[in-house]
Amino acid sequence: MKIIVLGAGVAGVTTAYMLAKRGHSVTVIDRQPEPGRECSFANGAQISYSHAEPWANPHAIKKALQWILRDDAPLLFHFRLDPAMWGWAARFLKRCNWKDSNEGTIHTLRLGLYSRLEMHKLVEESGIEFHYQKRGIVHIFTRENDMPHAYRQADFQVPYGSPYEKLTRDECVALEPSLKPQSGRICGGMRYTLDETGDIFAYCKELAKKAATLGVIFKYDEPVTALKRDGDQIRAVVTSAGTYEPDAVVMALGAYSQPLLRTVGIKLPIYPMKGYSISVTIDDPEKAPIASVTNQMEKQVYTRIGNILRVAGTAEFAGYNHDINPVRTRLLKESTKFWFAGCGDVDAATEWACLRPQSPDGCAVLGKTPYRNLWLNTGQGTLGWTLCAGSAKAVCDLLEGKTPEVDLTGLTIDRF
Ligand SMILES: Cc1cc2nc3c(=O)[nH]c(=O)nc-3n(C[C@H](O)[C@H](O)[C@H](O)COP(=O)(O)OP(=O)(O)OC[C@H]3O[C@@H](n4cnc5c(N)ncnc54)[C@H](O)[C@@H]3O)c2cc1C
Repeated sequence: MKIIVLGAGVAGVTTAYMLAKRGHSVTVIDRQPEPGRECSFANGAQISYSHAEPWANPHAIKKALQWILRDDAPLLFHFRLDPAMWGWAARFLKRCNWKDSNEGTIHTLRLGLYSRLEMHKLVEESGIEFHYQKRGIVHIFTRENDMPHAYRQADFQVPYGSPYEKLTRDECVALEPSLKPQSGRICGGMRYTLDETGDIFAYCKELAKKAATLGVIFKYDEPVTALKRDGDQIRAVVTSAGTYEPDAVVMALGAYSQPLLRTVGIKLPIYPMKGYSISVTIDDPEKAPIASVTNQMEKQVYTRIGNILRVAGTAEFAGYNHDINPVRTRLLKESTKFWFAGCGDVDAATEWACLRPQSPDGCAVLGKTPYRNLWLNTGQGTLGWTLCAGSAKAVCDLLEGKTPEVDLTGLTIDRF
């Protein structure tokens, strides 16, 4: 089949690679000069299959009210006259109850655990390297108040295949010795043992190279401007360079999926949720984490990628705006200086911000659309890196008329 994959982020590149392995003729189109230059560039580097709890949970409203309008809060909402944002927020709030939150956890965890297996296969067969580490991820608590909810969530996930270990302060430090200088601030922790880490940008570049050797054509610097329909199918993809007429199209434009889908009348409640990261060159490896630490209170992650310490977090609703708000990056820098003092020159860190493709229920949107040859691989939000292999495999199966190995209940467009 002649297939066009829209987007060369982690979703698009993984899908293109898998389609090419199955013998399809694949073209990937992206507006950037190389793969992984938007949301798949400098993220938190956690492949956190166990991090399946949706942001829309019963605690979210209380936390959001505490944080509202505070420029330095983990969540920042810019009040704008934007119907898409308010529509998204209404759906999000409706899901802030135990039933919906538990359901969302189960759907995302199922896809996550499937992704883990598919990621292992992909890495083994492709041989790509991206500072991949399978050491689990340590979570630390600095407030007793945060612990019951986190342990409740972890306990809930165990029967679905997500093991974890409760940790004392000393056990946190034993696993991640660079926490020692500030260990007095830690009141407890846990470790999700299946979780992994790796450099998403290196993954995208390496996998795109492999895909190219399998015949995938990458068209860069080529913005897609519209889709054209004909009855129940997509007839053409229009770009700055011309028009393509493929047999099938995979939508993997991340946070920009929705504007393009709108050109053929599809309304998907995916909204851009901005996140920030800093990358610090590590001068003293003993003062940086070995793998990754999640700070539950500040909602920040600190991950080692070779000689780089990546610190990421925060969520900001500001529409399609990529600007870096210095207050947000200052938060990341201050916490890095506090927890990992002396690891490197934090003031010289590279700053980055990008837009996560966020659905209101926090779950991916995969597979079919009202058009028989248009397939979705988007909406993974805070977990796009984690869920890429399973998402891509399921979409490839559907595209070939097969039933995916993973149950896609709660992960398709039907739920909206
Ligand atoms: C601060 C931060 C930290 C994060 N940490 C983690 C983490 O630790 N673990 C995790 O699993 N996930 C994390 N995420 C989320 C993850 O990075 C994203 O979900 C994932 O990268 C999205 O991949 P994608 O391929 O869907 O989108 P993208 O990577 O954004 O790819 C979409 C592509 O489409 C292209 N494009 C868009 N519009 C057009 C157009 N009109 N024409 C042509 N091309 C176009 C873009 O150039 C881009 O290359 C984080 C995100 C952020 C912002």
